[in-house]
Amino acid sequence: MIYIHVPFCERKCNYCAFNSKVSGAAEKQAYVDALIKEINLRADDSLVETIYFGGGTPTTLELAELEKILCAVRKAFSVDERAELTIEANPGTVDGNYLYGLKSLGFNRLSLGVQSFDDGLLKTLGRIHDSRAAIETVEHAKIFFCNVSVDLMYGLPNQTLNHLSRDLERLKFLDVAHVSIYGLEVEEGTRFFELKNQLPLPDEDACADMYELITETLPTFGYRRYEVSNFAKAGFESRHNIGYWTGKKYHGFGAGAHSFDGALRTSNVRDVATYIKGTEPIVEEVITRQAAMEEFCFLGLRMTAGISAQTFRKKFGVNISAVFGAVIAKNHQRGLLEVDGDRIYLTTRGMALGNEVFADFLL
Ligand code: SF4
Repeated sequence: MIYIHVPFCERKCNYCAFNSKVSGAAEKQAYVDALIKEINLRADDSLVETIYFGGGTPTTLELAELEKILCAVRKAFSVDERAELTIEANPGTVDGNYLYGLKSLGFNRLSLGVQSFDDGLLKTLGRIHDSRAAIETVEHAKIFFCNVSVDLMYGLPNQTLNHLSRDLERLKFLDVAHVSIYGLEVEEGTRFFELKNQLPLPDEDACADMYELITETLPTFGYRRYEVSNFAKAGFESRHNIGYWTGKKYHGFGAGAHSFDGALRTSNVRDVATYIKGTEPIVEEVITRQAAMEEFCFLGLRMTAGISAQTFRKKFGVNISAVFGAVIAKNHQRGLLEVDGDRIYLTTRGMALGNEVFADFLL
């Protein structure tokens, strides 16, 4: 698995705490060169089954720049011919020629940061696009890609259930392959954080109602929830994200990107200018056996399929009940976890209160 971080955007959104900035052509070119250098340095013989370009807005790069990065990846690693190649894009940053170019480069999955179809909410968020651009981009993207994903947000300032119902209706007609949902979190360092006390945010109950509306409505449009926040038409689940939740190793390239080799989690320096100058990755965490067992559970439980007791035993040589028996029993009693033969998974209520359950698995 490979993740490539492209930290450039046309404008900083009001809620954005991602590692992204507005930048000129010279810095972008220097960044692409630094990325290629890092990819070459970390070449190995592993088979790559998924590549994910995230950001930022990767589609703020020229097609030729994306091509250079992909060429470097293909030279440095053995990329499976059936690999899933995803790129994140934002409405208003891609036209027909660009989409055709992405397809020609081998991308086969497009993840669009739509967030809402409501012009007022999009303006509040500080997005560069309006509802019309969002619809046009999705429709356009579907001409070139059968695997289009749309990001949708809830819990926004002034957002009501009516706004959300309209967004969901719009999604129904756009009929994309995959939907990811995000509840707004007001994070430090953002414009929203500065305005926190004045923001008319929906309260916890209203946010829970919104989550419920989404999780109940999307299945009626033919989406299956396969993870706490992700819904897909059959066969369109994100292979890359499933890789994270099932503990696969990954290389992360670019400013602030994380990597995991099965034992160590490392991260690159976050500052773009410093990354361009070149630095060594920093070791963030040594994954002990205990930490690996915890991760197996709380990452795996994010998926509706949950975790397998037998796989746990094979991986760690001990029964899951010997390590997490009390946690499983407690959450089962609370109606948040279900145990069905070999499988342990979150109930519908458990999905809504997932963070409480995951925290319990941190011993
Ligand atoms: S487009 Fe995404 S990454 Fe860029 S500023 Fe907005 S929220 Fe952040």
